[in-house]
Amino acid sequence: MSKPLVVGNWKMNGLRADSTARVKALVDGLRAQPAAGVDVAICPPFTQLALVGSLLEDAPVALGAQDCHKAERGAHTGDISPEMLTDAGAAYVILGHSERRRDHGEIDETVREKVVAAAKAGLTPIVCIGETEDQRQSGETESVLGWQIKGSLPDGFTGVVAYEPVWAIGTGLAATSEDIEATVGFIRAELVRQFNESGKTLRILYGGSVDAGNAGSILTIPNVGGALVGGASLKPDAFLSIIHAAP
Ligand code: 13P
Repeated sequence: MSKPLVVGNWKMNGLRADSTARVKALVDGLRAQPAAGVDVAICPPFTQLALVGSLLEDAPVALGAQDCHKAERGAHTGDISPEMLTDAGAAYVILGHSERRRDHGEIDETVREKVVAAAKAGLTPIVCIGETEDQRQSGETESVLGWQIKGSLPDGFTGVVAYEPVWAIGTGLAATSEDIEATVGFIRAELVRQFNESGKTLRILYGGSVDAGNAGSILTIPNVGGALVGGASLKPDAFLSIIHAAP
């Protein structure tokens, strides 16, 4: 099995001054207490990629982005191509986050096309799936996740899957360990059904109100290969605690 992966998703947060301070604190923290057994990445907004990338030079932290277009280049005003991300030093890209599905009407097919394009450009896609509170209440969690897996992940997928229950994002209410274990176990079974042998080793992250207090128990749940962290990744101390909680 690969190392655990802890990814910070800064979402739409980060100006030059606070991005610089946050990255410096993270890098200093990892220098003081290394986390060689953990893969770490941070995904700032597009406008901070170059700055954050330069601050991460020689640091054991990879750079990622929060979205990309499916096309390589051309007439797509306001969009960013996968190649532009690799050119900016990114190794990862988050795709299909529920906030993009909500704010930009992204559907599984769009996500799948972006995943193909990102992989072609050499990026590792982190594909987000997760049910809403309504879907959960009406007992549709597994069917929703099953459709998202089938629809969002292309043949030959080699990236990372992030299970982010929408109701747990930014609420301070992470799913319980029992719920995470059951749902991530279901996701693993679906991945094996879709991808056979390679589905057994794809990394599955959990995201949704991961913090310094719950990271230790979440990161040791079977089949959980890391965390996708929003709010707590903006606080270096909390993010470092999460990284150090990884087994
Ligand atoms: P929070 O950690 O703020 O709940 O956000 C999770 C998330 O959406 C990460 O992509």
